[in-house]
Amino acid sequence: MSIIVQKYGGTSVADSEKIKNVAKSVIKEQKNGKKVVVVVSAMGHTTDYLVKLAGEITAKPSCREMDMLLSTGEQVSIALLAMAIQEAGCDAISLVAGQVGIITESIHSKARIVDIKTDTLNKHLDNNKIIVVAGFQGVTPDKEITTLGRGGSDTSAVALAAALKAERCDIYTDVDGVYTADPRIVKDASRLDVISYMEMLELARVGANVLHPRAVETAKQFNVPLRVRSTFKQQDLGTLVIGAESMELYKAVSGVAADDEQVRLAILGVPDTPGSAAKIFGTLAKNNVSVDMIIQSYVQEVNANNIAFTVTESDFDNAVKILENVKKEIGATEIVIDKDVVKVSIVGAGMIDRPGIAAEMFEALANEDINIKMIATSEIKISCLVERGRENDAVKAIHKKFDLGEEDVRADKIAK
Ligand code: ADP
Ligand code: ASP
Ligand code: MG
Repeated sequence: MSIIVQKYGGTSVADSEKIKNVAKSVIKEQKNGKKVVVVVSAMGHTTDYLVKLAGEITAKPSCREMDMLLSTGEQVSIALLAMAIQEAGCDAISLVAGQVGIITESIHSKARIVDIKTDTLNKHLDNNKIIVVAGFQGVTPDKEITTLGRGGSDTSAVALAAALKAERCDIYTDVDGVYTADPRIVKDASRLDVISYMEMLELARVGANVLHPRAVETAKQFNVPLRVRSTFKQQDLGTLVIGAESMELYKAVSGVAADDEQVRLAILGVPDTPGSAAKIFGTLAKNNVSVDMIIQSYVQEVNANNIAFTVTESDFDNAVKILENVKKEIGATEIVIDKDVVKVSIVGAGMIDRPGIAAEMFEALANEDINIKMIATSEIKISCLVERGRENDAVKAIHKKFDLGEEDVRADKIAK
């Protein structure tokens, strides 16, 4: 009998009525002859509420206690869902990550899963139980509770599907699939019936938060077919995320997304000698700060370079501290910070052999009078850093430029 892993996000389990509906859909899958493992997020905005509570106690909570706190949200929803399934007459058991054996690295707040034990899961599945697993959390070999980063329940579900060699992982959410842009921002965004792992991974990384990037990474690595579909329209199959070889044809651009968690840093007056850039970025890397877009420009009058780059907001404080030290060491003159930025990106495997896509994107921005502060390109992605506040205009203009919209605008894309 094959295994299906289902995952329900916060909106899908926001209240007891919704939890009862999820229970029905889980039971239906079992009645279809599948063994079912369900992963759930915390109810509604519980995680945000817990973050706020911690902020009322201290401005700098310890990462360990933060994980201890945030992981409680999922423990509530798994117990309630298991009760709802039992109340509907089926056998179910809820398990937290420590009970399953979802083992992660010993890093708090953004731990990676390194192993999942399947003995307990298989034992319960063999006894015909529906298993409800807490998403977003893991446990270190030293039994410390960790979390996988915001939105990480998607990753819990895909990792479980990979470990159990499941037939498929269904990500049930409040939107009925992956769209060419966030349908909350672009009303005529069109749904993609199928998208490759590669494109979905890039889209998720540049801000399409419908899927956690590491969930897509894991699905790609272990070849887990993923479906993104609506909790509230179960008959609809949503979007299938699969390997590229199954795709027939690539459009030049598959989607547009914005990421508002970027900050731009610039270090000015960097001596024009070999090793300066290696020192800056080597030190950042050693301290676990990931850098995204990079621009270096030479200033002839002072025979020095200005180097600008972006980091995520969560790495910002750390990056500035490191940069202050490196500045002294290499004899640079100044550090400039720009928080008023948002990264807008287009993704599409079809842009590989098509010149002119970048120019069209820049033209769309120019027509809206949106200034481009930085540009970065890769094989299937082009990103522009624009002024904060203009990101929705940018996304809409680019979406239109590449003709990604659908003719009949559906009003019911997102559950109310
Ligand atoms: P869940 O709580 O179920 O994990 P999320 O809020 O994390 O749900 O993800 C679903 C949301 O992702 C949608 O409501 C939508 O606004 C947003 N989103 C952003 N980009 C896209 C996109 N390209 N396609 C679909 N949804 C998107
Ligand atoms: N509850 C966690 C969050 O809000 C994890 C998730 O929903 O995927 O980020
Ligand atoms: Mg999510």
